[in-house]
Amino acid sequence: MAKPTAVVDYQICDPKKCSEDGKCPAIKKCKHKALQQEAKGEAPAVFGLCMGCSTCVTACPLKAIRLI
Ligand code: SF4
Ligand code: SF4
Repeated sequence: MAKPTAVVDYQICDPKKCSEDGKCPAIKKCKHKALQQEAKGEAPAVFGLCMGCSTCVTACPLKAIRLI
């Protein structure tokens, strides 16, 4: 069975609500550097290295990240 992958729900994610500087706090928690932002204030995206560890799911205060 394939490993689960984190996905960001862009209907829910709002960097202004979870950080003062626009940096997604869940990104700092990803040891695999799979979650990245193109710019401060933009919603992050998951790239190919996600290990499905769910650390970012727990770290997102708006519950905008889930594993599928
Ligand atoms: S994924 Fe969660 S923690 Fe990251 S910017 Fe969006 S709402 Fe904030
Ligand atoms: S599930 Fe784990 S590896 Fe994947 S983006 Fe989240 S913290 Fe990173």
